[in-house]
Amino acid sequence: MAARDPVADLRRIAFLLERANEATYRVRAFRSAAATVAALGHDELLERVRAGTLAKLSGVGDVTARTVGESLAGEVPAYLRRLEATEGTDLHGAAAVLREALRGDCHVHSDWSDGGSPIEEMALAAVELGHEYMVLTDHSPRLTVARGLPPARLRRQLDHVAKVNEALPEGFRILTGIEVDILENGSLDQEDELLARLDVVVASVHSKLRDESAKMTRRMLTAIANPHLDILGHMTGRKVSAAAVGVTGEGDRGHRRGSTRPPSDFDLDKVLAACVEHGKAVEINCRPDRLDPPKRMLTAALEAGCLFSIDTDAHAPGQLDWLRFGCERAAMCGVPADRVVNTWSVERLLEWTDTHKR
Ligand SMILES: [Zn+2]
Ligand SMILES: [Zn+2]
Repeated sequence: MAARDPVADLRRIAFLLERANEATYRVRAFRSAAATVAALGHDELLERVRAGTLAKLSGVGDVTARTVGESLAGEVPAYLRRLEATEGTDLHGAAAVLREALRGDCHVHSDWSDGGSPIEEMALAAVELGHEYMVLTDHSPRLTVARGLPPARLRRQLDHVAKVNEALPEGFRILTGIEVDILENGSLDQEDELLARLDVVVASVHSKLRDESAKMTRRMLTAIANPHLDILGHMTGRKVSAAAVGVTGEGDRGHRRGSTRPPSDFDLDKVLAACVEHGKAVEINCRPDRLDPPKRMLTAALEAGCLFSIDTDAHAPGQLDWLRFGCERAAMCGVPADRVVNTWSVERLLEWTDTHKR
């Protein structure tokens, strides 16, 4: 049997584990093994597999070494076979139409803040998924737990993204952006000059989520009226229990991770009316531990006339494939594709964000 590409198999396993919302340490084993194996010469790789010394290299363990051996023997690695056997079902009907219409993702993190992978890895995964663009939205300075970027680091990131873009395939680009914190007084946690330079600004509440309704409403209305804000991120801040998505071979099956949090209190009608008035989009956050906004609010936003952005809020490459969860919920609520800003062309998307700045 012809040998398979062991690096591609390791990366595919990592992608599927990330998509299944598996624990980071498990994914990391496959990503670091892929990097180590990719750096080896072909002869040395074969020699080590033959001698059984692959697992002696740092970054490679027994499971990943076995996977490489199986790939080189021309077999689909057992680990990969198991993951693919339990892959989710295809989307149907309106959800499939919506997913098909999406051209990119407006909320994506890298290891510059609290994501697990470099910008380049995220971009390549987005290319493989057929995206035309990805908006890089790492966190803002006040969110220190998520290594938010102070102005100087964001400036460096912008230079870096320009370089990465040059090396990416034609027809795909990284758009610059931020997930900026909405501070307690409703202002945005980054310099105006920088916010003005970014292609897309997602703004979210991450603190004082239990504040009383009047205060939270004022805070959100101030932010929505800010000319830099384009998309209101995960509007209620709720957390739902995050079981592993789908069923994977082992480990976290049925094991619930993370804590839950109820939605924030605010005047929904006022917030939605402000989004309509200022032409801002309500994010449909795809993360299985958020599913924000809940369907009742999503329906209200649709009836109010809001625009939407269906975003993964991915912190790892495999999570870029979570768009399907947002599409399913949007379709259930009857959201039409033309109301979703990331079904638009890049040019139209940027024209839209430009209108907010003027
Ligand atoms: Zn967030
Ligand atoms: Zn985020």
